[in-house]
Amino acid sequence: MSPATPFPVSLESWACAVCGADDSRPYREKMYAIGEVRFDLVRCSRCGLVYANPRPDGPTLGRMYDDPEYYTRGYNLGVEEQNYFERKDELLAQYDGEVAVLENETGGRGSLLELGSAGGFFIEAARRRGWKVQGIELSPPAARYSIEELGLPVFEGLLEEAPLEPGSFDVVVADNVLEHTTDPAGVLRRLCDLLRPGGHALIVVPTYVNSPYFRISLGLGSLVPRRLLGPKLLALLKLDEEEARGYPYHILEFNRPTLLRLARGAGLEVLRADRSVPYPAHLFKEPRPTLRQRLLRGAFRGLNAGMRAKLLPGARLRLLGRKSGG
Ligand SMILES: [Zn+2]
Repeated sequence: MSPATPFPVSLESWACAVCGADDSRPYREKMYAIGEVRFDLVRCSRCGLVYANPRPDGPTLGRMYDDPEYYTRGYNLGVEEQNYFERKDELLAQYDGEVAVLENETGGRGSLLELGSAGGFFIEAARRRGWKVQGIELSPPAARYSIEELGLPVFEGLLEEAPLEPGSFDVVVADNVLEHTTDPAGVLRRLCDLLRPGGHALIVVPTYVNSPYFRISLGLGSLVPRRLLGPKLLALLKLDEEEARGYPYHILEFNRPTLLRLARGAGLEVLRADRSVPYPAHLFKEPRPTLRQRLLRGAFRGLNAGMRAKLLPGARLRLLGRKSGG
């Protein structure tokens, strides 16, 4: 039985958001659902972008992100089981390490803007290391948490509405953001406008759904070893039963060529594009893993090593680009 549709849903057909072609093939039917409304993925025949078509229209997307439980229920479901806000200390420690890496790559501390700053933990980690920071966040509860609980400068709303000075940032960050947008080229262009000449852009996107791993799994169908993987990993790999499918938050699925094309189109010189795979919490945070969990941990570590060595396609891509000049 399908759940009732929780709010009015309208659909909009669109062309490829990376190359503009209106020439696609079916990729996966009924990938996502809002109540009884199902969403199919297609793949652009020209550039390889995977996208939901038709997608939720603008007002429907707004209703999806107005969900007050977006960051506590829907966010990172599968990879993490703990409420996002309860992971504050863990995330601050993780981001401290990530900001340290970024400092090495970009040549020091300066001003940093994060688009989609969520509860503000990444920019808080940067601020504690001496960066001047600014966030932009669409989700009201997350924006308010970062402003009221952490005292961070965060604009609640869309990038195009934020009153920020062009050319005023040393670094801009969009971590797991572009796959949610209807105009990723426009978003990236606007972000780069806010960068000073010679400034750096850090872009992270998931690439698993637009990878051979997902395509092979779909092709295997009933041959996928469901008992070995277990229900949580099947959900994370988006191979679970149709009834369990979530909202179409990821309306775009990039791979390496489409993300590089987008970055170069926004005027960025691509300095690096690192591949990796996120480690599922239920496997890696379990203090007493079972044999099955130890086997799966080994598989994820092996995959990650192969990706880092550029021997295997990634399930996540971290791109560092530089704006010309400076
Ligand atoms: Zn395309």
